[in-house]
Amino acid sequence: MNIAPDILRSSAPSPYGSGNYIDHTECGDTRHRLWIKRNVDGSIVGYCHNCGSRGYLRKAPFVATDPPVRDWAVKPPIPDADLVRGPEFWPNHARGWLLKYGIEPWELPGVGWWPKGDRLALPVRDFGNALVGHNMRSTDGREPKYLFQGQSSVGHWVRDKDGPLIIVEDILSATKVGRQFDSVALLRTHMSPAVLAKVQKYAHVLIWMDPDRAGWEASAKLVDKLAMFTDAIILHTEEQPKEATDERIKTVVSDNC
Ligand SMILES: [Zn+2]
Repeated sequence: MNIAPDILRSSAPSPYGSGNYIDHTECGDTRHRLWIKRNVDGSIVGYCHNCGSRGYLRKAPFVATDPPVRDWAVKPPIPDADLVRGPEFWPNHARGWLLKYGIEPWELPGVGWWPKGDRLALPVRDFGNALVGHNMRSTDGREPKYLFQGQSSVGHWVRDKDGPLIIVEDILSATKVGRQFDSVALLRTHMSPAVLAKVQKYAHVLIWMDPDRAGWEASAKLVDKLAMFTDAIILHTEEQPKEATDERIKTVVSDNC
């Protein structure tokens, strides 16, 4: 008799390499004689010491399930004609907001001031570096801080380096970290299937969310989600990635690789 995959899946402990004994109700066992273990490679094995049943479940390969995109729902990025490109024509608070984090406008190709909304339109670039949307950030304190146009669920990517991938929350953090390492901004506190599909290409992933409650909770969920696919760890710092100096970013990352 084989142990049903459902039993293996639902009864295996989460940590890789650990096992537990449960009742095997199929054979009438009530003395916890079914041993189920999650192997270090993610597969699950089971053996019942009462009836001799065995079971084995390979780690399921990840399949990206992007939600179907409804054409009418996704607007294109903000048209060029609606953006003011030259930083010299932006309000002072918009320039100042970027400079506060030590970021120059040219580091964000496609950035512009969006007069219609009085916001800075930060470019969202997908894994292939295509401009797929804008993240419109208020720089004068108005709420909400962020508006979106175009796609954002693909994440904002900065990449062309070897080494680890650093997962951050926002575009400025990805820009700053992206000077030295591949980085993706989730633009939210959870990871979309589209981002996960790309993230698992990396052998080593560091999660560096903002140091607040939302960031900590997001980190814990992310590391759980990623454990199936790659080697992921959480970075804890007192500052947001975009607030860290280049030197500090280098230290924090290399201390954890
Ligand atoms: Zn049994």
